[in-house]
Amino acid sequence: MSSASFSTDVYLDRLSRVRAAMEERGVDVVLLSVGHDLPYVTGYLAMPLERLTMLVLPLRGDATMVIPRLEAPRVVEQPGAFGLLPWGETEDPVELVAKLVGGAQSVAVGDQMWARFLVDLLPKLPSARFSRAVDVVGPLRARKDAAEVAALTAAGAAADRVAAQLHAGEIPLIGRTEAAVSADISARLIAEGHDIVNFAIVAAGENAASPHHHAGDRVIMRDEVVLCDFGGTMNGYCSDITRCVYTGSAPTTEIADAYAVLHASNAAGYEAGRIGNDCQDVDRAARKVIDGAGFGDYFIHRTGHGIGMEAHEDPYMVEGNAQPLAAGHAFSVEPGIYLSGRWGMRLEDIVVATDDGPVLLNHADRSLVTVEA
Ligand code: ZN
Ligand code: ZN
Ligand code: ZN
Repeated sequence: MSSASFSTDVYLDRLSRVRAAMEERGVDVVLLSVGHDLPYVTGYLAMPLERLTMLVLPLRGDATMVIPRLEAPRVVEQPGAFGLLPWGETEDPVELVAKLVGGAQSVAVGDQMWARFLVDLLPKLPSARFSRAVDVVGPLRARKDAAEVAALTAAGAAADRVAAQLHAGEIPLIGRTEAAVSADISARLIAEGHDIVNFAIVAAGENAASPHHHAGDRVIMRDEVVLCDFGGTMNGYCSDITRCVYTGSAPTTEIADAYAVLHASNAAGYEAGRIGNDCQDVDRAARKVIDGAGFGDYFIHRTGHGIGMEAHEDPYMVEGNAQPLAAGHAFSVEPGIYLSGRWGMRLEDIVVATDDGPVLLNHADRSLVTVEA
């Protein structure tokens, strides 16, 4: 488990914004358990255990983290943000939560709370109305604050360094299996500062036509596209980058031409990532370039996803999402072209919308680099 450690001010600021959202929505108390809303407001990521951890966050009054006594030492206390209420093995933590909630009428619960705890809590709070805390916390989490943008920037830079090693031929490809290259990339993500590797897709030749291909025992050959999509978590925030390389000599005209379209599509998606546009405008801009070149049927997924403490989170860059882009929205721009049974390619960067326009968090070479290793 990996979560960010920011200064107490960061959590106090987030808690006050959560309380403002609670007031606006008429929510009396928010209950957060496992999942990423809890570390967003406390810095503590609860392990998904059978023992209950729960932050009881009232609109007014002090927030309390009900936590198994044996887990309590792992919490970095944030004075003024929340208090700790450790419970022992023979106590009933649901009863403790119910007492803290008291007579609150409107209770919002985190999406990932185990059903067993909610089911036990319901009869203890017979007059409460329940709703989902995602409606309160979600919009705040989607707009990254300065501390989060800094963490995403650092994670992106670490992923860029691995991409640079790939481009420089420091990660041998030809004659190795996809799985071996995937393990190599994973080790380098850790060496460059990530705490966890979330994925390292390596897909060679025809396998690259499957966007989420699982790296296997396929041996990488000369003269093919190798798609590498990798990322991890560093100080609680995720990286996610895709670069394709061509093994051996120069790519064929067909591949080079298609890649030029992909590159232009990625650039158009980035350009559209500005305040005043909707999320779907990013998808439309990237897709228009690929459609215009006649590859529209081969771009088979949305253009991007939000990124933060989770590798995929709101907001999604997809047709139908008319949510306006706002400062602090961090998301991927990752168009792809996939010719089933033949080859595939994707080009992915992380972008943050700011008042001064879209800002790229990845800077690794975007061209189809030929790797002779
Ligand atoms: Zn994906
Ligand atoms: Zn990716
Ligand atoms: Zn992605």
